[in-house]
Amino acid sequence: MALQSPKNFSTQKTRIKLVLGIIIFFFFCLSLHLFNLQVIQGSREGEKVYANTSQNVDILLPRRGTIYDRSGKVLAQSVDCYRVDIRPAEIKPENRPEVASKLSQILRIPEEKILELFAKYNEPFPLNRQIDSEMADKVKNLSLPGVDILPSEKRVYPYGALAAHILGFVHPDFGFNGREELFGLEGIEAAFESTLHGSPGVVVQYFSPIGEKLPIPPSQMQPVENGKDIVLTIGTTIQNITETALEKAVQEKKARSGCAIVFDVKSGEILALASFPDFNPNNWSSVKKEDLQNIATQFSYEPGSAIKFVVGAAALEEGVVESDTIVEDDGPIVIDGNIFSCPPEFGGPHGKQNLYQLFKNSCNVGFIKLGQMLGIDRMYKYFKLFGFGSPSNFELPASLGKVTPQDEWSKSDLAAVSFGYGLEVTPLQLASAFQIISNDGKYVPLHIVKEIRENGKAIESFDFTFTKQVITKRTALQLREALKGPVEGKVPQGLDQYGVFGKTGTARAWKDGQYTDLNNTTFVGAFPIDNPRIGILVNINEPQVEFAYAVRVCVPVFMEIAAKIVDIMRFPLP
Ligand SMILES: [Zn+2]
Repeated sequence: MALQSPKNFSTQKTRIKLVLGIIIFFFFCLSLHLFNLQVIQGSREGEKVYANTSQNVDILLPRRGTIYDRSGKVLAQSVDCYRVDIRPAEIKPENRPEVASKLSQILRIPEEKILELFAKYNEPFPLNRQIDSEMADKVKNLSLPGVDILPSEKRVYPYGALAAHILGFVHPDFGFNGREELFGLEGIEAAFESTLHGSPGVVVQYFSPIGEKLPIPPSQMQPVENGKDIVLTIGTTIQNITETALEKAVQEKKARSGCAIVFDVKSGEILALASFPDFNPNNWSSVKKEDLQNIATQFSYEPGSAIKFVVGAAALEEGVVESDTIVEDDGPIVIDGNIFSCPPEFGGPHGKQNLYQLFKNSCNVGFIKLGQMLGIDRMYKYFKLFGFGSPSNFELPASLGKVTPQDEWSKSDLAAVSFGYGLEVTPLQLASAFQIISNDGKYVPLHIVKEIRENGKAIESFDFTFTKQVITKRTALQLREALKGPVEGKVPQGLDQYGVFGKTGTARAWKDGQYTDLNNTTFVGAFPIDNPRIGILVNINEPQVEFAYAVRVCVPVFMEIAAKIVDIMRFPLP
């Protein structure tokens, strides 16, 4: 499996070049220094001490930083271990069966496998990269020529597959001076590689002609700098609740994939971000490439009716409607020869409706009319204002989605985007847009890194309070009231007293240039309605069950996660 992307590869090549550069520069400085000592300072200490010396360059590898959850639980950590390296040229053919047999007993690698590797390689190779000190001592005690025990590092993810798409994983590669080091390949491990990695230290030790160690001049020491630690905004308890609910739903509904995002609508902190299928970062070499996609940030799709809260926000903000304005669905409408309607099986035509009823019925004809009242330029402007089709500064790799430039929109396109076709969004973008209406119109970026720490102290904090007023508080309040419609009668007892608002979306999945018979389903919502705190998005793709609509597939997952969060966070009753 080729996990290494060309981008990573070129980064690596750059890194190797950089490292070589550092080494060359280092030896250049060293020779200057020796020149200075031996020639310029001539008769002084240079001649006395450093003339005719030999030197040994010792490289100290940094320890990779730890990744913590918001309450300080360790999610990823490096532990010391040892590696067994083999120099095959130094093991005589007649001794190989005996060496293989001895190593096999300690390392639990089949003897034949070891003999096979001896035969295959002429150059030194690692036989096992991660053994504990007890095993290392046993191998050391054998004193086998051509078998080296070297210090190594192992990355451990104590919670297994929990938060796998957030954390990512590391892989061993050539680092400083050709030494093997661990480098981030996915997730936060890759995105914050330079923060977590640290930089190697170098000590040049001089020896007198008779082999005595000489004092090390301070200029010949470059201290090792360990990696910095990262504190995430997620908490293991809510992450676990979210992953469990999501996985159960994806499997029960025989769906292809899914994700769930739980976020604090005021701070923008992501409390949980789950993507399924998932993987175990402790065992990354067996990870399937398709399981690596972070559905929450990298899956780009037509959201269907879930986009209607943005259309509603634009219509209210621009004053084309008020909450009590009546918009009528009086049957099919024809635009540029295309027929748009709410079919009878979805309760259409829906007749006269106010904003609450438009959302409750998710009336396509009604939202097409709102789109027509807004017009192409204003509709486009609000999609951009809410962040669709634009890059974000999110910490993990994220897709842009797709919003066609407004000068390419036809009247038919305007109708289609009004109910969520003809544009692509990511679940993260939808969650981010919903944060705005949940926070009285104030945009705060959703983010997943809380703090960077060095020696237990925060050296960088990512706190956002208020960055941009996107819509007025009045619009946000009117919209939230109307968004109680889609979940009317669907909020379980206990949770109903907090007031949940949100929007469902079900759209045909697009595959190989055409629509399939399967749906992508979404629900994004928040609570408590009077002072929203928690937003949750649930997206489940291609469920293969009867009634594969968001209201049946995603809304129950939202309610399950919300009810458990209410229990944990002990929200005050309204
Ligand atoms: Zn309708």
